[in-house]
Amino acid sequence: MPEVSLHVKTPLVQSRSVARAAGGSVWLKLEALQPPGSFKIRGIGAACQEYLRRGARRFISSSGGNAGIAVAYAGRQLSVPVLVVVPTTTSDRARELLDQEGAQVVVHGASWQEANACAQSILEADDAFLHPFDDPLVWQGHATMIDEVAEAGFMPDAVVLSVGGGGLLCGVIEGLRRNGWPAVPVVAVETEGAASLNMALQAGYRVELESISSIATSLGAKQVCARAFALSQEHPVHSVLVSDKEAVSACMLFLDDHRLLVEPACGAALAVAYQRAFELRQFDNLLVIVCGGATATVEHLRQWSRSFE
Ligand SMILES: *Cc1c(COP(=O)(O)O)cnc(C)c1O
Repeated sequence: MPEVSLHVKTPLVQSRSVARAAGGSVWLKLEALQPPGSFKIRGIGAACQEYLRRGARRFISSSGGNAGIAVAYAGRQLSVPVLVVVPTTTSDRARELLDQEGAQVVVHGASWQEANACAQSILEADDAFLHPFDDPLVWQGHATMIDEVAEAGFMPDAVVLSVGGGGLLCGVIEGLRRNGWPAVPVVAVETEGAASLNMALQAGYRVELESISSIATSLGAKQVCARAFALSQEHPVHSVLVSDKEAVSACMLFLDDHRLLVEPACGAALAVAYQRAFELRQFDNLLVIVCGGATATVEHLRQWSRSFE
């Protein structure tokens, strides 16, 4: 019997409003509509199902963000208990969302490193650890969003997406390749304070950032995964940086234009699409991955906007 996936097929819609400033046409893959609020459930959901098949009795995560929320959602759907270890810096909002999904939340340590070390130390034989971005099962799952674009009969000239640890990038490139589009370029967007891919491409090796200074916490991986770096050398990948202010403004515009609330991590990719920087003008049919994100509220966006005034 075919297994039901934990993610939903998302709409692919043309956006006149995102395209209005710069022209051309812009298509949005609305991953913000996934039940747990972000694209992460595609890869994490597929990985959870596979680990369950291999005998896992519990799912463990150390993400206080959308990855942890996706694991909690998957666990609830599959009736597998979930434990998420998060650092004290995790927002009340994120804890509330984890709680809502019925995950057991343990708060440990002042940083993600400490929370993650704690999560690793409690792993038992029947536990599966779900990495937020560095797992081939996760990339395969993310690739399904491109399968859906291909099924819809739309071939993009370029794909715009956000990059944190690079799992989304790996999944989208895998999706482009398996649908026969190995030459479609990817515009990889980060915020200035979370530029791990951009720095790595400049340096020629996987730089580890000393700290993350962006409010786009979902992009806050200090180092991209090895696969993302390798793919960005093989595949046409254009790295673009935006400021936190541009990312938040794009979230606000998008909220009015499409009535969808997304995190600044997603606003970063939208900012590039709205402005359609000079380099992007050559592409007539842009596909923007609206990756979503559940941890920002309207009030958070307002506060950030005010703080930039
Ligand atoms: C995780 C996440 C990203 C970045 O994805 P990576 O796979 O870490 O590159 C971007 N936006 C949102 C909303 C996320 O949750």
